[in-house]
Amino acid sequence: MNGTMKVVMKEQAQPGAIMSTKQIPTYGAKDILIKVKATSICGTDYHIYSWDAWSQNRIKPPRVMGHEFSGEVIAVGSECHRVKIGDMVSAETHIVCEKCVQCRTGNAHICRDCAILGVDIDGTFAEYVAIPETNAWVNDKDLDPALGSIQEPLGNAVHTVLSGDVAGKSVAVVGCGPIGLMAVAVAKACGASTVYAVDINEYRLDLAQKLGAKVVLNPKEVDVVKEVMKITDGNGIDVACEMSGNAAALNQQIDFLANGGRLSLLGIPTKPVDIDINKVVFKGLTIHGITGRRMYDTWYKVKGLLASGSLNIEPIITHRLPLEEYENGMELMKSGNCGKVILIP
Ligand SMILES: [Zn+2]
Ligand SMILES: [Zn+2]
Repeated sequence: MNGTMKVVMKEQAQPGAIMSTKQIPTYGAKDILIKVKATSICGTDYHIYSWDAWSQNRIKPPRVMGHEFSGEVIAVGSECHRVKIGDMVSAETHIVCEKCVQCRTGNAHICRDCAILGVDIDGTFAEYVAIPETNAWVNDKDLDPALGSIQEPLGNAVHTVLSGDVAGKSVAVVGCGPIGLMAVAVAKACGASTVYAVDINEYRLDLAQKLGAKVVLNPKEVDVVKEVMKITDGNGIDVACEMSGNAAALNQQIDFLANGGRLSLLGIPTKPVDIDINKVVFKGLTIHGITGRRMYDTWYKVKGLLASGSLNIEPIITHRLPLEEYENGMELMKSGNCGKVILIP
């Protein structure tokens, strides 16, 4: 398709981003072209926008930002046979090599040579985006595009919470940003006995409560470990989902987990973290690093959970803004007083 489109772009190696125009992307035989209907702001986008140390090492401007989205397929390459024009799609944002051992053994989520949409290739803060057909996830036609756009981070939450048993178990979610909030809702929907939510932001603890957290704890106000031990008669919590990236919080989870508990790590600390391995060993804890979404097992789980009616993540979408207002969206992300912020191109 000829013509230009509006985009939000990281134009230079410095903080901020600009609104600009660009050619509508070309697409190969195995690619599809999508008209973006909704694209949500991820923590990663905020990192790129604020130009933190990670972004400085990873991003090569100019780059169209954004990766979480849903939209309508308007063209398909000559070798595409699954996705059709008119389909409503979202996408797995990890574009994997399909050649490495991990890809070939059902573990493509930990591909050794993975490119990420909006990070390594042009992304979705745009009117149009081109992606490999294989990455497209076809949505039900009546799924709200905003909800469609947050399935990718919801997949992170599902992958984290369900990397072990939760039914009938107590689950703590530490760090209640949007993915943490989703994790609260997923744990609740999957039959956790008690969901605990831990965060220093009252706005987010409020949302966590609405989504099914029975106990909310603010480490600025209470000693989280003492409080958990009091509530659980000294036993501790069965499962902790670490979504804060905070070193002190990580150590608290090792302390408040029950013997035999599971710690699933999604949060990304900015520096190496010291933990007491003795506690891990003698408590018999399982620690599990979570990257991306299992392809495409996690996506089927997300679809199934949304279809079940028992997972309501609507309250997590707190703001819908036109794409032009991306700077407001980034400010909201910075303040923490938001759930998911959706941009509409
Ligand atoms: Zn994301
Ligand atoms: Zn690979």
